[in-house]
Amino acid sequence: MDADCVIVGAGPAGLAAAVTARHLGLDNVVVLERCRLPRDKICAGGLTPKTVKVLTGLGLATLLQREAHMITGLRVTASSDFQFVITPTEPSFVLPRFYLDRELADRASALGVRLIDGSSAQPVMDDMGGVTGVTAAGELYRAPIIIAADGTHRLFSSRKAERSLLHGCMARFKGPVANPGFVEMIFTPAVKPHYCWVFPESENMINIGLCVARADQGETGIRQLWAEVLSTSLAGRVEGMEQCGPLLFHPLITSPRVRHDALPGVFLAGEACGLVNQFTGEGISSALISGGLAAETSVQGLRDGLTYKETERLYLAALKHALNPGLILGSILTRTAAVIMNSRFLRSCFRRAKLSVAQYLTRL
Ligand SMILES: Cc1cc2nc3c(=O)[nH]c(=O)nc-3n(C[C@H](O)[C@H](O)[C@H](O)COP(=O)(O)OP(=O)(O)OC[C@H]3O[C@@H](n4cnc5c(N)ncnc54)[C@H](O)[C@@H]3O)c2cc1C
Repeated sequence: MDADCVIVGAGPAGLAAAVTARHLGLDNVVVLERCRLPRDKICAGGLTPKTVKVLTGLGLATLLQREAHMITGLRVTASSDFQFVITPTEPSFVLPRFYLDRELADRASALGVRLIDGSSAQPVMDDMGGVTGVTAAGELYRAPIIIAADGTHRLFSSRKAERSLLHGCMARFKGPVANPGFVEMIFTPAVKPHYCWVFPESENMINIGLCVARADQGETGIRQLWAEVLSTSLAGRVEGMEQCGPLLFHPLITSPRVRHDALPGVFLAGEACGLVNQFTGEGISSALISGGLAAETSVQGLRDGLTYKETERLYLAALKHALNPGLILGSILTRTAAVIMNSRFLRSCFRRAKLSVAQYLTRL
């Protein structure tokens, strides 16, 4: 089947690319999704002010008012005597991904995007290793623009091993939420230099989870860590609450800066090219932004008669401009947290300096 643009993956990156491609006048836009839609994604669903701005630009402000839980502050805890609160000046939310991704898919569908679900897409390559099409459910899809937004699956990436892989796990708890207006980041030696989070989804539901870098932990090791933090650092947060649903696992591919290691002929967007902040784990905004940019630059390249390499350069420049500041800051903060948490001397200096840093941050 011939199309103007084929997109793999119906997450925020793929759907933002599809919506943008339709806005730019492409008639025949196809999205291929492995799962049945609507699908859920293992994610804490934290929508920072930056994500909210992008979603509002995509016309999803009413979804946030209708379904999302408003957040009024971020509490950061690094030990029992080092805690501070940051109050954002712009709104942020928590929204389970089922609702966000379903709304994005509905929006794409309403614009005439063809969503084909329930079948895993595979690249079709020529003798030179370039991607010429995509197959799914026995059908071959060909298009001048191929965008891969397949998240951590990396079927369209030239990078064989992933250096910046984190392992995330999370669960939901039901019961009265102590501080429903606050999201929490809890730094604890068990998961250093990363953190555990507590994200309220409503007045009586929270999702909590953790991220670790150690690949050798495997699922069993991560389960042990989970049990450890649940009975120590997170014990107070789940008191009087009941876990609903299982413990869920999902990897995250993060990057210290923008990269684009795609198979030739393909534009990668979102987590498929590691666009997740190493410090915060935030990836929804970069997925939406990169999906939009992938569609914009590839349509421009097609209209200007550019080669794939020339268009890729344009795309990379646009990605760097939009996302490098946040990714680089995330990498610096992760390394700083690692140095502080690994050094007893620095930890004690930090504790003595106590809230001066916090007071500074709240003024930003
Ligand atoms: C535990 C955890 C908590 C997180 N919390 C947050 C948070 O609070 N805030 C935040 O901003 N980010 C968070 N993230 C990161 C965020 O979830 C991802 O960065 C984001 O989902 C990336 O979007 P994407 O569209 O690139 O990929 P995805 O959302 O992963 O979508 C990829 C899609 O491609 C499909 N797919 C894969 N392979 C194929 C194939 N071969 N054929 C067809 N379809 C395919 C998948 O089924 C999926 O639907 C979290 C991640 C984890 C793991």
